[in-house]
Amino acid sequence: MPIFAGMKLVFATGNEGKLREARQILEGVCEVVSQTEAGVSGEAEENAPTLKGNSLLKAEYVYGRCALDCFADDTGLEVDALGGAPGVRTARFAGDIALRDGREPVQSHVFSANIDALLGELEKHPGEPRTARFHSVVTLILGGEKHFFEGVLEGSIALQRSGHGGFGYDPVFISSDYPDRSVAELPDEVKNAISHRGKALRAMAEWLRSRNVQVNQ
Ligand code: IMP
Repeated sequence: MPIFAGMKLVFATGNEGKLREARQILEGVCEVVSQTEAGVSGEAEENAPTLKGNSLLKAEYVYGRCALDCFADDTGLEVDALGGAPGVRTARFAGDIALRDGREPVQSHVFSANIDALLGELEKHPGEPRTARFHSVVTLILGGEKHFFEGVLEGSIALQRSGHGGFGYDPVFISSDYPDRSVAELPDEVKNAISHRGKALRAMAEWLRSRNVQVNQ
């Protein structure tokens, strides 16, 4: 039984991995409704210069179409040896690198192409630390008002892929908490306990709890 009986929040995402994680993280807090279940198709164009800006665009896209309380997550991978890139361009990294190098554009949002691009760029920085972090910004729209929550997972980029869990860059991300394996080798509940998204969504849950907020009843 969720803490707030009957409370529902729409998650503005088309990413099945994010949806699965959000449902696990917010279990017992509220019911997470997918944007498809809320009757919203398509997605916002992510053209803001910051994670916060894109997170807000995603939440506003869904709120503007269903007028239900909702939240969105925008996540960036910040790699120190690449000056903080790909950052806000994380989902489109492979496309950006192909364009820069004058190669055929690769389909963006393809996880494995993005990982190849990341490992390829880091090969150009031998001997440099491979430290990196995932940074999530969650936007909650509640009764039309916007609230923001953040979470960070520190770690580093592996030399090669390992593991089949999680999604996205998880096979090459090694968290500082579990330095002997990639995040894709961690059980879901362990990733959720330490992850950027887990931290941001638990901060949101705590905020809702502290105000005894009731949504979409
Ligand atoms: P966005 O937040 O949907 O724009 O995601 C940005 C990029 O980061 C996409 O390529 C995602 O696959 C990737 N990403 C987001 N969250 C995670 C995560 O928890 N682990 C690994 N990759 C992620």
